[in-house]
Amino acid sequence: MKKYATFKLQYLIMGVAFLAVLLTSLVSIWSGYRMNEKTLMASTLETNRVYAEKLATSANDYLEETFKLLNVNATEMSAYIDDNARLERKADLLRRGSTAFNSILVMNPQGKVIATSPQTLNLKGIKVTSEASKRALKERRPMISEPYTGASGREIIFISTPIYDAKNNFLGVLGGTIYLKENNVLNQLLGKHPYEDGSYVYVVDSDGQIIYHENKQRIGEQVMNNAVVKKMLTMDIDTGAQRVTNTKNKDMLAGYAKMEISGWGVVAQRPTDVAIAPAGEMVKRMILVGLPLLLVALIIVIILARKIAKPLQELANITEFDRDEADEAQKNYQSVTAWYYEAIQLKQSLMSSFSHLHNQVHFFRDQSTTDALTGLTNRRTIDELINSWFAEQRMYSIILIDIDKFKLVNDTYGHSVGDEVLQFLARKMENVARSEDVCCRYGGEEFVILLPNTPTDVAATMAELLRQDVEATLAPHDIQVTLSAGVATFPIDANHPKTLFEKADEALYYAKEHGRNQVVLAK
Ligand code: GH3
Ligand code: MG
Ligand code: MG
Repeated sequence: MKKYATFKLQYLIMGVAFLAVLLTSLVSIWSGYRMNEKTLMASTLETNRVYAEKLATSANDYLEETFKLLNVNATEMSAYIDDNARLERKADLLRRGSTAFNSILVMNPQGKVIATSPQTLNLKGIKVTSEASKRALKERRPMISEPYTGASGREIIFISTPIYDAKNNFLGVLGGTIYLKENNVLNQLLGKHPYEDGSYVYVVDSDGQIIYHENKQRIGEQVMNNAVVKKMLTMDIDTGAQRVTNTKNKDMLAGYAKMEISGWGVVAQRPTDVAIAPAGEMVKRMILVGLPLLLVALIIVIILARKIAKPLQELANITEFDRDEADEAQKNYQSVTAWYYEAIQLKQSLMSSFSHLHNQVHFFRDQSTTDALTGLTNRRTIDELINSWFAEQRMYSIILIDIDKFKLVNDTYGHSVGDEVLQFLARKMENVARSEDVCCRYGGEEFVILLPNTPTDVAATMAELLRQDVEATLAPHDIQVTLSAGVATFPIDANHPKTLFEKADEALYYAKEHGRNQVVLAK
């Protein structure tokens, strides 16, 4: 039970300290991780924003160049608008000479196709029906169409410019198509291949329709609901970055930028988990680096905990002494090294209460064996002693003593002076007694001396010495007292303690009867 408690203290200290170390480590790792994660996210957002802006700018420049190219060609074509063969050669030249278009188309003001490149389109002579062409004819200005599905079933964007002659007569429209799902200029500008880590770029037109995506299946999809797309197209923001959940429910860090000419938007994004992965790596490294330190801390904690628990454990162990080992226990307390306040206090209070207890025990033991007034052995103790001597059949003598006319002392000087006389006699008895003799107050003013292994004559001589001494010395208050004594020897005068005392009493009575102040031997 006790051992369990001290072990518990040691482990408690270890546990608390280790917990503190562990929590501190966890907190610092966690805050380090969060800081790192935040920095990584911020820098990824900015990188993507800059990238989107760069892509938008170069695409914009490219579109501008494209319009210029179309314009130059349109002006040229106006000179030979009726020369079909020449128009077609020019169209071929235009398509092959630049990477801008998948196909080239020339329409007259009525919408009839008058030249194409490649010729395999088989559109010549046919009246165009697409909304994009109709609008180009109607509005007669440089235009970029929305994506639409052409007659060939392709997803198309139509970029066109009107053809005017020198007198500003409208002669038709020169346009180029971009096949969105095929190898086209956007692929070349934005890169065909997706990144390994799930980063990608996509482009939406001004209505939120995807016109470029690494996954061709998604071209033509309406993604206006995407937070980034919505923000870019509906609010007047040219470039920015934010964390966003994409259409496929993936957490992304997206940068975006709008193109001036087309109103298209470029979004470059990277999965958040990929972006913050280095933060996780950092945690692993921190743990690897910190683990040995943590082990060292743990060892220090164990040593300290043992040191703290040790004095308390030792004190507690000593408390488990047997009564017989009490003195030993007190010595052991002394040997405990208490080195901090609580243990020192505990040790001192244990030691002081122990020595107090010790004194108390001695006090009560004396009380039970000693007569309070004279300090001599009391009758109960004497009776025990005699019983044990009787059991051993030890030889011994007794001197039974009674003060003569003591009543008179009390009556003359008072009871307390009488007490002083009793104390006076007690000292006289102790003077005459040898170390092995036992002096006892037997009753009120009756005393006995036990003399182990002592024959009658020696006992009688000692009694006589005592009698003479008392007679010769004045008691306190100059009172003269004398005593009478009866002497008996076991087993000479009696073979039982009870009869021995009766014999001694008879001798004492004889002394009283015959003038007092004398020693009488039992018969
Ligand atoms: P004697 O023995 O010589 O025959 O005469 P005595 O006067 O001594 O007679 P007895 O022994 O009968 O008287 C004993 C007296 O001792 C009676 C009592 O007042 C007194 N006494 C007993 N115990 C105490 C005590 O503790 N203190 C005092 N002061 N007196 C005591
Ligand atoms: Mg008496
Ligand atoms: Mg008397």
